[in-house]
Amino acid sequence: MNIILLGPPGAGKGTQARLLVERLGMIQLSTGDMLRAARRSGTEMGRRVADVMDKGHLVTDDIVIGLIRERLLQGDLGSGVIFDGFPRTLAQADALDDMLAREGLRLDHVVEMRVNDDEALVQRVSGRATCATCGEVYHDATKPIPDDGHCTKCSGTTFNRRGDDNADSMRTRLLAYYKETAPLVGYYYVKRLLRPVDGMGEIDQVAQEVEGILSASPLPGAAVRTA
Ligand code: ADP
Ligand code: ADP
Ligand code: ZN
Repeated sequence: MNIILLGPPGAGKGTQARLLVERLGMIQLSTGDMLRAARRSGTEMGRRVADVMDKGHLVTDDIVIGLIRERLLQGDLGSGVIFDGFPRTLAQADALDDMLAREGLRLDHVVEMRVNDDEALVQRVSGRATCATCGEVYHDATKPIPDDGHCTKCSGTTFNRRGDDNADSMRTRLLAYYKETAPLVGYYYVKRLLRPVDGMGEIDQVAQEVEGILSASPLPGAAVRTA
């Protein structure tokens, strides 16, 4: 089973992806995480994308498509792939179609995490912190790091905050979402793959909705295995 988590920055894609990895043994492919890893390791590409990311603009299609292609070619995809933060443009969506077809894979569901309240999204990313060791996602108000400073999942004590998780960059990221990424909602609707969930619910509630979708059989007319 291969799925896309689609939604604006702060919708909860990473949070839900981690739960699916834990519960169903799926693989999370986050282009945001891959790009941040490239920055940390100081590759030439990492240096090239740094400023674009900090300002909240989209990185070029070629770069993110290349990252996904490389990972898919490695194989070892567990019980399926969760595309988290990819595709973000129609060109990326077309490229993903081609890559999956070439590997004999299909897309089963595109889960659209709906959050129509931009203020809530800004509050979510402004309070976001991530465990540097295992990637567990926290929030200062709704899911705080325990008082003893240890990650609940791995006991790690180092937490990252993202340079782009500020109100200024969020304005640009939200604009990029509505301009470049929101058209994918119609694209996947027509392909009969779109499954909206209420992203404003509690984390567990959203998780239940997502699991309900994944356990239901594909709708008639959904994508057919291509190889
Ligand atoms: P995305 O990957 O879509 O940008 P994240 O999963 O990183 O979103 O979540 C952004 C922030 O919002 C995190 O701090 C996370 O703890 C918090 N969060 C995620 N889902 C919810 C939810 N359903 N309700 C409240 N806060 C949430
Ligand atoms: P969020 O969790 O807030 O949705 P991500 O971690 O997915 O953010 O992405 C962070 C940044 O990385 C984006 O603002 C953008 O600059 C870049 N990025 C990530 N994925 C893509 C993509 N598929 N296409 C273009 N840029 C991307
Ligand atoms: Zn941890």
